[in-house]
Amino acid sequence: MDTKQECCSVIWLQGATCTGCAISLMNSNYPKLSNLLLDEVVPGKSISLKFMATLMGATGELALEVLSRAEAEGDYIVVMEGSVPKGEDGKYCMVGEKSVADQLTEAAPGAKAVVSIGTCSAYGGIPAGQPNPTDAVSAAEHLEAEGIDTPCLNVPGCPPEPSWFVDSLATVMLFGLPGPEDVDDVGRLKSVYGELIHDNCPRRGDFQNGHFARHIGEEGCLAEVGCKGPYANAPCPNRGWHEGLNWAIKNNHPCIGCVEPGFPDLMGPFFEKFGPEESEEMYRRLK
Ligand code: SF4
Ligand code: SF4
Repeated sequence: MDTKQECCSVIWLQGATCTGCAISLMNSNYPKLSNLLLDEVVPGKSISLKFMATLMGATGELALEVLSRAEAEGDYIVVMEGSVPKGEDGKYCMVGEKSVADQLTEAAPGAKAVVSIGTCSAYGGIPAGQPNPTDAVSAAEHLEAEGIDTPCLNVPGCPPEPSWFVDSLATVMLFGLPGPEDVDDVGRLKSVYGELIHDNCPRRGDFQNGHFARHIGEEGCLAEVGCKGPYANAPCPNRGWHEGLNWAIKNNHPCIGCVEPGFPDLMGPFFEKFGPEESEEMYRRLK
């Protein structure tokens, strides 16, 4: 039996983030974080998390030396969490004496891929919401502006459910970066994000039958209280959250469309139904 292990180095950078994406992943149960970090992510393939400010024991100079060494060794994936503030030369988000914008500019060219975890890194998210005082952009927008052509894979969500990230990372480790046929037009794996919440919602029958909740907490389709499930692509109805225990709509709360570009501005007000024009615009974007 071939027992050869392949190990993939990961450099995890954190920009303008609440660290919720990291916390969500740390709460993963299948696989547990210890399995992810110490065992195999997929048979025969494991990761070596070289740098991640939230988890690593080292601080200060020592931590930054580890980062430089990992970049020099090459053969790594960058996981980017949070958006990239560009205003004031990136001074709104510093790591050591460098801006995270410069850190990403340095790390990305040598990476096999940049995996953007969370809506902030994938599309700008909350830090890029109006009036966007730090001029925050997504990782892909930053790379494009810097002329760096390292491919990006988006794993949006505010935060993403752990399995969405594990599936995406495992796909890159197993098969390399997915081809255009495997990702949608906003850079997400179709195998994870390929279906509308609305199409798999357990309340879809209520929608069809005109049984609508008038207040949050009531039974029935939540469209009248602002549900954005018709405009959001994610596996929440099928996988749920917390190992399938619950998720927003099962818990009588409308989906707020956290996985889509333009969240949160475009999905607001969260508890109001879109008018015909907003609805048409959203469907146009989804096509
Ligand atoms: S609750 Fe939301 S996702 Fe479910 S059927 Fe109603 S509008 Fe669609
Ligand atoms: S139900 Fe909607 S808001 Fe909640 S995690 Fe899924 S996509 Fe995001």
